[in-house]
Amino acid sequence: MARTVLNQADITRALTRIAHEIIESNKGTQDLVLLGIPTRGVTLAQRIAGIIQGIDPDAPAALSGSLDVTMYRDDLSRTRTRTPAPTALPTSIDGKTVVLVDDVLFSGRTIRAALDAINDIGRPRAVRLAALVDRGHRELPIRADFVGKNLPSSTDERINVRLQEIDGEDSVSIEAL
Ligand code: 5GP
Ligand code: MG
Repeated sequence: MARTVLNQADITRALTRIAHEIIESNKGTQDLVLLGIPTRGVTLAQRIAGIIQGIDPDAPAALSGSLDVTMYRDDLSRTRTRTPAPTALPTSIDGKTVVLVDDVLFSGRTIRAALDAINDIGRPRAVRLAALVDRGHRELPIRADFVGKNLPSSTDERINVRLQEIDGEDSVSIEAL
């Protein structure tokens, strides 16, 4: 039985707050790039970018993209057949502030891999992290700069993130496995 933790309005509010926090910490929207981790991180990055563009008419038009980290994972077999999601950079990341966006932050290994991927792509001025849900259980010294909801969880629970664009509805729920 899944327990709903965030409904559609909660998610919209959280993303709107994160958009404001990103603008504030970047002191505007100049040289800002949001890179979502597939799959749902990409959708979240697009939404946050849209909100930022709604707040600041001078925000870059090419604000969000995606960063595939499949090949940079240290805990997945490199030989296993996996279809990498495309990395689609909206612009060069050199000298920019890159905000990584993911749906759930757990061990931190995905973000570690994302930092490796970024290192191969360019030299940003700074890299920040936004996550819709921080469920705890970090295994690396990684933390999110922008968090939608801290959701302390047990390792035998799973967080379900459902987004309108992909799943037909917006919700975050927690479920015992
Ligand atoms: P980490 O690499 O930090 O261990 O896990 C984060 C990545 O795995 C994210 O890309 C996230 O999508 C996925 N993930 C880890 N735990 C959960 C979870 O409980 N629910 C969902 N929806 N994704 C998770
Ligand atoms: Mg993911």
